[in-house]
Amino acid sequence: EPQSGLAELESQNNALREELRIAAIIFESQEGMLVTDTNSIILRVNRAFTELTGYRPEEVIGLQPKIFFTQLHDESFYQNIRNALKKKGFWQGDVKNRRKDGAVYVERLNISSVKSLDGSISHYVASFTDITSEKEMADKIHHLAYYDPLTNLPNRRLFQNRLERALVLLKRNKSSGALIFIDIDNFKNVNDVLGHDMGDILLTQVATRLVDCLRESDTVARLGGDEFVVILEDLSLDLNQAAIQAQTVGEKIIEHLKQSYSLDDREFHSTSSIGITLFNTRDTSVDELLKQADMAMYASKVAGRDRLHFFNPKMQASIIANANLKSELIEAVAEQQFNLHFQIQVTHDRKVIGAEVLLRWENPKRGMVSPLEFIPLAEQTKLILPIGQWVLETACAQLQAWANNPDTAHLQLAVNISAHQFHEACFVEQISPLLDRFAIQPNRLKLELTESLLLDKVLNTVNKMNELKKMGVSFSMDDFGTGYSSLSYLSQLPFDQLKIDQSFVRNIHDKPADAVIVQTIIGMANNLGISVIAEGVETEHQRAFLERHGCPACQGYLFGKPLPIDQFELLLAENTAQH
Ligand code: C2E
Ligand code: MG
Ligand code: MG
Repeated sequence: EPQSGLAELESQNNALREELRIAAIIFESQEGMLVTDTNSIILRVNRAFTELTGYRPEEVIGLQPKIFFTQLHDESFYQNIRNALKKKGFWQGDVKNRRKDGAVYVERLNISSVKSLDGSISHYVASFTDITSEKEMADKIHHLAYYDPLTNLPNRRLFQNRLERALVLLKRNKSSGALIFIDIDNFKNVNDVLGHDMGDILLTQVATRLVDCLRESDTVARLGGDEFVVILEDLSLDLNQAAIQAQTVGEKIIEHLKQSYSLDDREFHSTSSIGITLFNTRDTSVDELLKQADMAMYASKVAGRDRLHFFNPKMQASIIANANLKSELIEAVAEQQFNLHFQIQVTHDRKVIGAEVLLRWENPKRGMVSPLEFIPLAEQTKLILPIGQWVLETACAQLQAWANNPDTAHLQLAVNISAHQFHEACFVEQISPLLDRFAIQPNRLKLELTESLLLDKVLNTVNKMNELKKMGVSFSMDDFGTGYSSLSYLSQLPFDQLKIDQSFVRNIHDKPADAVIVQTIIGMANNLGISVIAEGVETEHQRAFLERHGCPACQGYLFGKPLPIDQFELLLAENTAQH
């Protein structure tokens, strides 16, 4: 029936027109669109395309999409797209393309192949949106989450990811790796003395140097504060070889970080302490490796800073030993296992000035434990407070006992004060009741402070020293020459005496530099108008040198070892008899 045939054709036509209209609307949508033939020749683009890329239709029709390409993707990237289209007829992903004005933008691109009725591909249709700002925002968020804002280095989180990945890759690459833990020596002093801004500048310079002295493939991260870590991958499978490789890098880091820094036009010197641990299995967790490298770093600190140590299982043993020592130390305080030894201080004609009191711990199982072994632990655990109080009391009681005898009334006792003890809020308030209670002349009591203690909290230190000074107590600076104090500090602090460190005295005759240091310290003390004493004097040679160069007082085995009070009093009597 021709009538109905015509109607059918009419309705088919309408449907087709409708489809075309819809297609046209889609083609004019907000998404950029582009149609090519099977040879990638551009046939058509829409208005959004022109808005997004800057190209008008007549500028691109007849060309290939290659004109948008950047060097930011390699050939395999485009090959993947072609493969996906061939296999699945569809590809979606993010592509960096170039606009007409040359600017690079990121587009989220969909490409579909269009098939003709016989099933063969006739066209490709690409649609895209500009996601540059979305991408930038995502990058920024990623950066904030994984990078340290001060130094731009990876932060702890990214470091952990990288170390985990390094552990996974170990097996595949048949290699080993190293974790290097770096801590800036005395960084706290920079912050306290020069201010946090300077501290920040130093940290950024440290970060730059670390990046500069390592391979691009090594990860450098900042864990926080002045702690940095480096992951070395692809080291030799042989751990001895790997250790040599890691050590070389570690030494290089130490050298680089040692070069002078310029902080706000001021020249500044700093050193670093390093700990290294190696790994060639996945058996050790990220946390464990970090702990090991940290322990090794701590060993470098204890050994005097400015050096590197490898982790070894003995360190773990020493941590355990420390834990045992700690519980015994708690017991020692409760059961009064301490006593004091006295080491004589004299002038060159053997006149006795007084003594330094040195703490001794008689441990029932271990025997005599050196203060060098337990003072650091006592500081960490704050047990130094009751112990230090006991030392002060005992020393004051001794001074009181001597006060009634004309042979001993003039003697001074030097008491070592540790940093924690001194910085305790009530330290000054602890001293004055002691002076009253034992009715002693304040200048008979001499407090020995170390340089590191002074630098710790400069203002607090100056104030406290001045208060005590007003009460009449004297001060000696212990281990002088081993720290960092500058002359300007020294002149501001009310010291009565500098104590030349025994390491210099020991080398007076072997190391010319140390002899010069000793002379310089004596000269410095004279210029500042304060007295000076040398510790660790063991030979007549050393004594004669000190006398010749104007150091009036000495302490050391040459005159007497640290002795229990009864033996010390015998020594005193001998000396008094000679005068
Ligand atoms: P220090 O105050 O520098 O004490 C000097 C150390 O050198 C003492 O070691 C002493 O025995 C030793 N010595 C003295 N003369 C000579 C010598 O001629 N040759 C050699 N080779 N050594 C000599 P000691 O008694 O083991 O004390 C070590 C450190 O422990 C002290 O160093 C001090 O910093 C700390 N210390 C001792 N007693 C106390 C205390 O009561 N409180 C605090 N906080 N620390 C203390
Ligand atoms: Mg001392
Ligand atoms: Mg000393």
